[in-house]
Amino acid sequence: MDQPASPLNDVRQRIASSAKIARREPDEITLIAISKTRPVEDCLPLIAAGQCVFGENRVQEAEGKWPKLLEAHGDIELHLVGQLQSNKAGDAVALFDCIHSLDRPTLVKALAKAMDKAARRVPCFIQVNIGEEEQKGGCVIADVPSLLDTARKADLPLAGLMCVPPLGIEPAPFFALLGKIAEDNGLTGLSMGMSGDFETAVMLGATHVRVGTALFGERKAP
Ligand SMILES: *Cc1c(COP(=O)(O)O)cnc(C)c1O
Repeated sequence: MDQPASPLNDVRQRIASSAKIARREPDEITLIAISKTRPVEDCLPLIAAGQCVFGENRVQEAEGKWPKLLEAHGDIELHLVGQLQSNKAGDAVALFDCIHSLDRPTLVKALAKAMDKAARRVPCFIQVNIGEEEQKGGCVIADVPSLLDTARKADLPLAGLMCVPPLGIEPAPFFALLGKIAEDNGLTGLSMGMSGDFETAVMLGATHVRVGTALFGERKAP
């Protein structure tokens, strides 16, 4: 069946082609449409075309945008891909279906408490500072096992590992390293790959790719 030409179908096809090269099934890979900074009207055509997983990087922005849409479209999943402050853990647990930015023990505690209170378990990816960059969010590589242990003891549902590799250099070694760390720690989910590198990420085992620009066009400077 031929799909009409659109950025969404283009991204879907590129995911499928990369999966094929890696002898993977395309449906092993979840495409998360990163809609940060985009108005609701930009999301509607994607929803109409069957895209049902979206991602935002700010709790407050998402709270202004998504509750009505989620009510109207019961099958949409909303993922948080940005840094989370502990005092927003309750809001995040209430709104999001998955959190990609678990990066420290204090956040494990805050999320566990919020999930208990809401009687709702939200799967979490541990974000790893895979390039060991000073200014970047994420848990340092050496601390992944202990953070994982803390999260398991707090009974947080763990989805896997997430990373944003350093800008401007070949991302493949970083994706491969994230895969290795996940494997060593008994985790299967890999949230990696953005507009510029999702095909590489899929070939190296990504289970979740986070794509904004390739679906919506360039973001305006903040
Ligand atoms: C913005 C963002 C993305 C999407 O980036 P694009 O380059 O627009 O595809 C993915 N992951 C995170 C964590 C982001 O903040």
